[in-house]
Formats: sequence, structure tokens, C-alpha cells
Amino acid sequence: MNTRPNPVLITGCSSGIGRACALRMHRAGMLVYATARRPETLAGLEAEGIRTLRLDVTDEDSMRAAVDAVEAEHGSVGTLVNSAGFAASGAVEEIGLAGMRRQFETNVFGLARLTQLVLPGMRAAGTGTVVNISSIFGRYAAPGGGFYQASKHAVEALSDALRLETAAFGVRVVLIEPGPVRTTNFGATYVDNLPSVSEVYDEFRERTAEYFDAIYTGSRRTLAGTFTVHADDVARVVERAVLRQRPRARYTVGFLARSTIALRRLAPDAVFDHLFVRRVFPVPHKRAGQPTPAGAKPAGRRTAPLTCTTAPGKDPR
Ligand code: NAP
Repeated sequence: MNTRPNPVLITGCSSGIGRACALRMHRAGMLVYATARRPETLAGLEAEGIRTLRLDVTDEDSMRAAVDAVEAEHGSVGTLVNSAGFAASGAVEEIGLAGMRRQFETNVFGLARLTQLVLPGMRAAGTGTVVNISSIFGRYAAPGGGFYQASKHAVEALSDALRLETAAFGVRVVLIEPGPVRTTNFGATYVDNLPSVSEVYDEFRERTAEYFDAIYTGSRRTLAGTFTVHADDVARVVERAVLRQRPRARYTVGFLARSTIALRRLAPDAVFDHLFVRRVFPVPHKRAGQPTPAGAKPAGRRTAPLTCTTAPGKDPR
């Protein structure tokens, strides 16, 4: 199978992993097109000699224009790195339909649509690589990020199907599964996006914000914070995968990712929840004395019922 990494088209290069990939691959001598939905954030990369384009993964026209521009000059995209993404954090009950849709529009549909747009060119060239930045949360889930984790599970399934569908045409599909990555805006966005819909989750929300802040800023010692990796560590793995004739289907990045995904594979659900998730992540606790929600079944003698101050499903943002 022929390997031709150039040109490399990367999404989400305003910060974090996308930006680190652009810099690393450019410095390794690859022809990189760094993209972002806010092109002004790419000035630093442009100054390094990297080509830049506007690309918003929720805007079909901008995706088409970017792919057309690369194909007009080079025939086809050699490597697509789908890095753009964010976390719609918060308890499942607190995220409204619009919030759910926004999460999937960017993390799943945007990635899938852009991939569809580069595939005809890759097939015609008989070579190409699609790298999808997934997450440890594509392999397991924890409280407070259900829709983000669902989006990354969707990316994993799509990538597995696509890998098998495109192998015969010389197109490789690679999943990258990092644990927490500092030097990104991901943690700040995670905390900023926490919705405040129901007082039932007030304490959980506060502990989740503190926990993620501690991981990404190092304000307090946490297991996940101890094992964060740098965005360039992820970029190095992406570069290695892209240059391989036969890359693996998935690459985990960092000790935390490797160890927890291994535990997830081996342990039954209840054991994984008990040994890892409940010990490491904040979980909501039921507080005594909370009033019964309208229409709810009467609580049993030993249970204190939960309530919502705002109707579930109201979009918090
Ligand atoms: P980041 O620094 O926040 O970067 C996210 C990038 O995605 C930004 O450039 C952002 O642009 C861009 N983006 C968001 N919505 C977009 C849209 N509609 N169109 C185009 N670009 C858009 O965080 P990161 O850690 O580098 O995130 C990159 C990927 O890594 C994500 O898919 C994330 O899920 C994944 N990941 C991150 C971690 C982590 O701990 N950091 C761990 C595992 C996986 P703006 O600046 O305009 O918002």
C-alpha cells in the first residue's frame, strides 16, 4: 500500500491538539493546511510557514471550500486529522435537546461529513489516511459528560466501520485515544459548559468543576492530573501513525489511557464502576429532605427523592 501523507488537512488548529499536530507535522517537513473556524487564531501558524484555511465543521460550505482548495492544488488530501471538538459537559438530565444536537453536530456529524468530502479524492489517488481524535471517553463513560462520551463512542464506531470500508481503496483510518491533555482549552471549556439547570445537581456540578479544574490547571493533586500528557505527546503519536505503512486501528496516549482502557476491557461493569469510576470521578449524591418532583412516584421509606427546579430537557445554553 502506497503511503503519501501530504498534504495534511487538520481541523481545530486554534489551540490544543490540532495546533500541536500542525506544528509538529510542518516541522517534520510535511505540507500542512491548518484550519480553524476563527482564521485570526492561525496567524502564529502562518508565521511559521504553515498554510491556513477557515473551516468550521458545522458549516458545509466552509468544509467544501477548504477541501476544494487543497484538491485544486494537490489533487487530493493525503491526510485528514479530525481534531475539532469540545465537551458538552453536565449531567445527562440537564442537557437540553439543542445542547445534545450541538455536541453531535461538531464531534460526530462534522467529522463524518468532512471525511466524506475527502474520500473520493483519496480513493482516486489510491491512498490516504484519516486520523480521528477520539478519547478514553470513546471507550468508557463517567458521570458529568454523557453526551461528550456518547459522541466519542460514535466516533469510535464510525471509524471502525470506515476502516473496513476503505481499506481496499488504500485509505487507512486511525483512532487516537488520549487521556487528559494539558496545554489545551479542553478543561476550561468543560468547566465553562457545565449547565446549571437543576439544584439537584448543584453540589455535583461544583465538585465536577473543581475536579476538572484540578486536572487541567494542577490546582490540586488528582490521579488524572498526575498523568496528563502534553498536546505535543498526542501530535507525536499522530505523526507516527500517519507515517506508518500499516498503522494500528487505535492508539492510546498516556499511562492513564492505557491502564484504564485495559481495566475497562477486563473488569465487569460493576467492578469497573466500583474500583475506578466511583473512586475517581465526582458522582451525584442524594440529599435528605429534597421535595418530591410533581408526578413522581412516592419515594420508598429509605429514599430521599430528587427534584428539578427547571423542567428537564430545557436547553441550558
Ligand atoms: P481545545 O484546545 O479546546 O481545541 C479544540 C479545537 O476544536 C479548537 O480549535 C476549537 O476552535 C475547535 N472547534 C470547536 N468547534 C469547532 C467547529 N465547529 N469547527 C471547527 N473547529 C471547532 O481542546 P483539544 O484538547 O485540543 O481538543 C481537540 C480534540 O481532542 C477534541 O476532539 C477533544 O474531544 C479531544 N480530546 C481532548 C482531550 C483533552 O483532555 N484535552 C482528551 C481526549 C480527547 P475554537 O477555538 O474556535 O473553539
